[in-house]
Amino acid sequence: MRDSDVVARLGGDEFVIVLNRLDAAQTAATLTEKVRQRIGERYEIDGHILHTTPSLGVSIFPLDGADADTLMKNADAAMYHAKAEGRDNVQLFNPRLNEAASSRLRIQTRLREALEKRRLLLHYQPQLAADGRSLAGVEALIRWLDPDEGMIPPDRFIPIAEETGLIGPIGAWVIEESFRQLAQWRAAGLSGFRMSINLSAQQLRLRDLPRQIAEACTRHGLSAGDIELEITESTAMRDPESTIDTLRQLREMGIELAIDDFGTGYSSLSYLKLLPIGRLKLDRSFVHEIEANTNDAAICAATIALAHNLGLEVVAEGVETSAQFDFLRELDCDLFQGYLFSRPLDADALARFAARHRATGTDPAREDTTGLPLNEQTG
Ligand code: C2E
Ligand code: MG
Ligand code: MG
Repeated sequence: MRDSDVVARLGGDEFVIVLNRLDAAQTAATLTEKVRQRIGERYEIDGHILHTTPSLGVSIFPLDGADADTLMKNADAAMYHAKAEGRDNVQLFNPRLNEAASSRLRIQTRLREALEKRRLLLHYQPQLAADGRSLAGVEALIRWLDPDEGMIPPDRFIPIAEETGLIGPIGAWVIEESFRQLAQWRAAGLSGFRMSINLSAQQLRLRDLPRQIAEACTRHGLSAGDIELEITESTAMRDPESTIDTLRQLREMGIELAIDDFGTGYSSLSYLKLLPIGRLKLDRSFVHEIEANTNDAAICAATIALAHNLGLEVVAEGVETSAQFDFLRELDCDLFQGYLFSRPLDADALARFAARHRATGTDPAREDTTGLPLNEQTG
């Protein structure tokens, strides 16, 4: 920085740089890009090589604001945009960000309220064994029931929850509520299937996650083997060392682990081998085109073969037709999930489904052993 510039630490890992007397916006972009590169360089402390991935947002006087508050607010919005673009980059403020920022703020406020007022709920989607009848597991899927907007799907609020830190309390609620529900089903005599829960990247970074899960198991009288955690491929590959560490702890407790949406991110196969996982969930985009698209069919076949070679089971996601089911069964896929068998169901409907689809052996008097299961729908 020049002598006339100001560098300040706002707190935590947030810093502000004030550049005086710039000739053009372009100069600001060039300078901040230099800052990003310098901060992003590797450095050594006590023999450890460290590096950081800074995100920088830029606002320019008088273009983006006439006073310090506005300039700071807009630089902040630009910085969030930089983070959302994958960190380690620089973004200039643009007015559209203001709209995005205030919409994010609105959703954030309403989401916090939804959590307090218990407007979040879980639906459960069955996972079936290769016979297409026996219930092997259920996946807990969160929904937000808004008094005005109705049912809001997770894709619209989980990313915001992640960005704002609300994923902490929301994730904790999902663990608590799904465990409570599984215990209630067990008490009602419904057993033989596990509960799968989706974990976000942020949750995986929480140090006390293994303890949180162990305590919830104890509280509800469940064993670790009843629980499976799903993490997406990109989450698993993002921060390998700390992820592996947390996953190992969970695995040592007996928790089952699955990679979600497999095939959509980029995986290092050598890294995959290091992860203490038991299952891969084949992304539904490949399943969707499995009959029409020979590439997708090849990807499904290769993924299943690869997984089996690594000693993993494969869950096919998004199975919608019996042709897809037959195709995947030919390929020796282990488990199946999708609208063909059932949409995600509320707890009562899932209990009825579970009663009709008991795992083979647990109910010798099973009434119906022919054909495909009923396609129960909650709409
Ligand atoms: P996911 O974990 O891959 O979940 C599967 C999604 O596919 C669900 O969408 C499910 O309703 C949908 N699906 C299932 N079968 C079919 C099918 O046959 N065809 C089609 N077209 N879709 C099918 P949903 O419930 O909207 O969830 C979307 C994503 O939101 C989930 O993807 C998951 O990544 C995330 N999510 C859901 N609940 C939670 C949660 O409690 N915590 C976190 N962190 N993420 C969650
Ligand atoms: Mg999932
Ligand atoms: Mg998935």
